[in-house]
Amino acid sequence: MNSLATSHRGTGPEPHPVAGSRPSTGGTLRRTLLRTALTGAAALGAGLGAARPATAAPAGSGPAEPRPGTPGEALRELTAGNRRWQAFRERHPHEDPAIRRTLATAQHPFAVVLGCIDSRVPPELVFDQGLGDLMTVRTAGEVLDEAVLGSVAYGVLELGIPLVVVLGHQSCGAVRAAVTAEQTGEHLPAHMQYLVDQIRPAIDHGQEGDARIDATVSANVRLVRSRLAAEPDLAARIGTGKLAIVGARYELTTQAVRRLA
Ligand SMILES: [Zn+2]
Repeated sequence: MNSLATSHRGTGPEPHPVAGSRPSTGGTLRRTLLRTALTGAAALGAGLGAARPATAAPAGSGPAEPRPGTPGEALRELTAGNRRWQAFRERHPHEDPAIRRTLATAQHPFAVVLGCIDSRVPPELVFDQGLGDLMTVRTAGEVLDEAVLGSVAYGVLELGIPLVVVLGHQSCGAVRAAVTAEQTGEHLPAHMQYLVDQIRPAIDHGQEGDARIDATVSANVRLVRSRLAAEPDLAARIGTGKLAIVGARYELTTQAVRRLA
């Protein structure tokens, strides 16, 4: 299976230390962050831009080590962390007292992970990352709404995060609910109907049964990724190589994260 960072190289500024010079928390949220609703235009590409030789981006367990500063470096760091997770060789980085003191005054996360609420797929664990590393946004089925869009935009535009990962997963209950609701016509209680309504356009009718659910997991990741990539402010960053938005899925059976084309 493809690793998360297969054949991609990033462009952008040099890696920065944990206590580096990037702004910690931005100023006023731009009004434009929320101006685009869920109905984005056609997806833009999420290529990582022109090739540049990879700079050192070790996993990092202390403030002196470089931080991923480009999409490619961030992808490689997440890939390395997931491999540690798969091999039961986690480092549990960035938890010690010095890091906690440093993080009291600033944060410099290098990736936004938009994942599912599923208790079996916590991003910090499956990517073996620590405090201050990931900005995580989690909704059932990675469903978007204004709060999610605003949160992702905050990480990218205000904190300068170079990578957004839309992370689906095997056996997603939200996707299963959407597929089942379409078949039965059932209306879900409370606000859960919103979730299945958002996932419904991704349902893969070329498959049946569990295969339909599994194919829809991937299709839903691609749909969410495309919607994010169509956000004008994010698209502008993608165009300059400062940002990549990638889709990926986590397999419960292997604990591997693989990137979706
Ligand atoms: Zn799920």
